[in-house]
Parts: sequence; C-alpha cells; structure tokens
Amino acid sequence: MNERPLLMIPGPIEVSDAVVEAAAGPPPSHLAADLVADFAAALRDMRHVWLAGPDAQPFVVAGSGTLAMEMAATNLVDPGDVAVVVSTGWFSDRMAEMLRRRGAQVTEVRAPVGEVPPLERVAEAARGARALFATHVDTSTGVRVDPQALAAVAAEHGALSVFDGVCATAAERFEMAAWGADVYLSASQKAIGLPAGLALVVAGPRALAARQTLRTPPPLSLDFEQWLPVMRGYEAGTPTYFATPATTLVRPLRVALAEILAGAEPAAAMAARFALHARAAAGFRAAWEVLGLRLVPRTADVAAHTLSALYLPDGVDATLPGAIRERGVVVAGGLHPEIRARSFRVGHMGHVLNRPEALARTVAAVGGALADRGLQVDVEAAVAAASALWEAPLQGTTVGGRGSAEAP
Ligand code: PMP
Repeated sequence: MNERPLLMIPGPIEVSDAVVEAAAGPPPSHLAADLVADFAAALRDMRHVWLAGPDAQPFVVAGSGTLAMEMAATNLVDPGDVAVVVSTGWFSDRMAEMLRRRGAQVTEVRAPVGEVPPLERVAEAARGARALFATHVDTSTGVRVDPQALAAVAAEHGALSVFDGVCATAAERFEMAAWGADVYLSASQKAIGLPAGLALVVAGPRALAARQTLRTPPPLSLDFEQWLPVMRGYEAGTPTYFATPATTLVRPLRVALAEILAGAEPAAAMAARFALHARAAAGFRAAWEVLGLRLVPRTADVAAHTLSALYLPDGVDATLPGAIRERGVVVAGGLHPEIRARSFRVGHMGHVLNRPEALARTVAAVGGALADRGLQVDVEAAVAAASALWEAPLQGTTVGGRGSAEAP
C-alpha cells in the first residue's frame, strides 16, 4: 500500500493524531454538555493563543478564512468610510475588494511582489481613515508585515487595526493586547492545526464598540451583535442559538489550542511556538539556498515563517509540484497572478514541525525533483544544512520585546 503523501501546502496542513481523534465520531448537539464545555475552553484558550486581553471577544463561526475577513470588513466599516489596505499580495487584494463591496473608500498602499510598503506611506494614507487592514502573512507571496508597527500607526491616527492572520495565527509572533491591535482574524486549517471549517475572529473592545456605532448593519449571519450572546453564552455555560455551530470541529479546536498552549503559561508557550516556527523557516531557507532556490520575499525580515514562496529555477516549469508529489510530498503551485507560473510554495507550520523527519523528507523531495529535471543539486547537503538549524536550541522564547522569537 502506498504511504499517505505528506501535506506540506500552506493549508490545510498535517494535524495531530489527537485532533483527528477529536474530530471522529457522531456529531454532537450544539447544546450537549460536553460540547458546551469544549466551546467554553476553546474560547478561553483563543484569548491565550491570540495573546489578547480579558476584554477581547473571540468568535468561532462555521466558515472559512474568507468569511472571517468578511466579518471584519462588514462589522467595522460603514459605506463611505475610508479604509486603508496594506497590500502585500492576493489576499490583501481580496480584502480590498470586500471593503469596496461594502461601499468603503479604499486606499490601497501597495508594494511590488515580495515587498512590504514603507511605513511612512501607510501613515500618510491612514490619516482620516476609519480602519487599517493588513495581511500578517500573505500566502500568495510569503510576505510577512510587521503588525506591531502597523497597529501603532493606525492607533496614532485614530483608526482601527485589523490583521488577517489566516496564514500566521499561532505561528508568527502576534501580541494582540500589548500591540493594541483591534481585530486578529484567522481560520482553522492552518497553523492552528484543524481541518478547514471554522472562521476564528478575536475582536478587541474598540472593534466591538465600532460595530455599535455603524449606520449600516452587517449581513445578519456575520453580525458581531448576533454572535456576541452566543459566544458569551457558551463561555458562561448557558448556550443560546443563533445559527448552528460546526459542532464536530469544536472539540478538535479545544484539543488543538490546548496542544499549542501545553507545558507553560500562555506567554511562554506562545513565545516557544513562535520560536519553533522561526527555527523551522530558517532551516528551510538554508536548504533552499543550497538547492539554488530564491525566495519571493526580497529580504529575510519580510519572509514568512509559515511558508516558503519560491521562484522556480530557470528551465524548470510549473509542473515541478507534480514531480514533488510523485516523491510523496504535496506542495502548492504559485498563486499570485504576477508570479503564478514562475513560483511554487511549501508550507511549514503547525504540528508537523515536531517531526524533523517529515521536514527533511520535504527538502529531499524538492531537491530530488530538481535533480530529476537535470539541475546539479546536492540534496544531502541541503538536508544537512536544514537539519543543523532544526537541531539548534530555540532562540528567543519570551514575548514582550521586539526581535524576540526571530530566526537564529
Ligand atoms: N487570508 C489568507 C492570508 C489566506 O492564506 C487564506 C487562505 N489561503 C485566506 C485569507 C482565505 O481563507 P479560506 O481559504 O479559508 O477562505
């Protein structure tokens, strides 16, 4: 029997056995006592994983990351409001389109593929804006922004700050309370380590207040005000109904969040988690360098830790992911329209980072596929370069200081 291929795309990802087990079995009622307990624990743990304050409100709603984005776009911004989008790729463009459909006046602050726009340009655009939106890691370019700096710029101009963490949450450093970010939205199928199906949003007090002052309410199914009593009810053990939650995914959510937070108090657990992803990314970068592959992000400081977006080498076409798949590892093709045919992407986030042999297998599969195309590559050296970093002690395992949890 063929071994199951290793899933190394930037979501959905490999999940833990405990999560698979928690997702098995007959679907629970949305009012079952066990389900309510799991829901309450998951909501509490979301605040910890998001490093959010006690006054922040987590929302768990059936849907994908796109729905979480739409919740943010429609609960915070009225038609006619100015919204700034820091554009670092295809998902930022999606957010801008959602905001335009909401009737907002959208200012996009764009950068060439692989770059982040300068902060001064963002600050200029933020003047008079109701909200600033940015994609923490844009999965189409592998570019990571600095949410701390962007949240500060937004706050300086009295604008709300909203971050799409779909490809970042629970992997890239994010301190929602300390940085004063207003919304951090995500989805279940990436670094959080679940199957797809849950939109996960944490809204701070200013964001909740902003919803209350809207002149044009959001679509009913996305409305913070409709979901608030439901989330508060689950957390207090007194559930109410608005729309049926994805009950099969609630226990897995509790399990996955508990795995992320295991073994230390939340700040330390999250710092270690961010450091783990930084170290994994450093190892992959070392391997790519040996294999002669170039990252789409122009500089290391804007390169995501959750995935590598890579240019295809000269003479290698977009069938490379298929050849890597033949070697038992599933990676993704290019996504951003400007570089779709010239790039491919390897995800490296979540539970799989605890399996160095799976990471080494990924490097070997990429290297082997390149060798098959006639490139002179030293696959063993690439695996060795990565492994040396993956075996190094974790760097910077505290939160609260700039530059902690960075790549070694
Ligand atoms: N934002 C980012 C950064 C993403 O990577 C994705 C999914 N790849 C989305 C939003 C949309 O999420 P979904 O596909 O779950 O709707």
